[in-house]
Amino acid sequence: MSNDVPAGEKRPVFAGNWKLFGTLAESVALATDVQAGVAGVDGADVIVAPSFVALATVASRLGGSTSHVAVAAQDCYWEAKGAFTGEIAPAQLVDVGCRYVIIGHSERRQLMGETDADVNRKTHAALGAGLKPIICIGETLAERDGGTTLAVVERQLDAALRDISDADLGRSLVAYEPVWAIGTGRTATPAQAQEVHHSIRTRVAATRSAAVAAALPILYGGSVKPDNIRALMAEVDVDGALVGGASLSADSFVRIVKEGTEVWLRS
Ligand code: PEP
Repeated sequence: MSNDVPAGEKRPVFAGNWKLFGTLAESVALATDVQAGVAGVDGADVIVAPSFVALATVASRLGGSTSHVAVAAQDCYWEAKGAFTGEIAPAQLVDVGCRYVIIGHSERRQLMGETDADVNRKTHAALGAGLKPIICIGETLAERDGGTTLAVVERQLDAALRDISDADLGRSLVAYEPVWAIGTGRTATPAQAQEVHHSIRTRVAATRSAAVAAALPILYGGSVKPDNIRALMAEVDVDGALVGGASLSADSFVRIVKEGTEVWLRS
């Protein structure tokens, strides 16, 4: 199973965001267990996102660019080199075997003060280096309760994609992650996810084209578990999942990949 999506062929995508968890040994063990668990799964793209310090070793242990489990970084900087202590450039991530990078995760927006403009700079830089960005957007609970969910998501989407070409958008993924559902055990209902995913696709169709919108993978993230993946994947605009907590166990992540792919292939 190749991890690169041939033009015109859309596949479900399942990405595990390991956040700030795992020693090097634990990360390698988790990655190799995931790889073994999804070995028989055909037709899905599977991604793991360990912490920076484990990326090179995990990528090499998974088999590099030929592995059917790809490696993502959890963030990157927008500059290619220079006096930016502590930052990591997209080309450095490519160099150690990453094929994807998560950008604009709500924890970075909320805890590290990342702005919509930062997300756009990082997206440009990632694409320029050959990485596929997984661009995260999503509303807070106050914004949902205030009835501004779709406006917030549209603002974040437009800002992230500013001056990104259609061709580059064709190498990008969007993850809708309601902030109130991340790490809380509270999942958006399938109908809530579908409403927002549909509005994202509609916005891309309006600002780009129907073909670009149809090809864009839109993942759902927020307390995805083996017992809710089937209902989420049954929604027409849900193309996969970005999984936090449940990706820290190979068993539960592999079940999410298998059950989600099964629903996708049937619908
Ligand atoms: C995430 O970190 O992107 C996430 C969705 O976390 P969780 O699945 O734990 O809610």
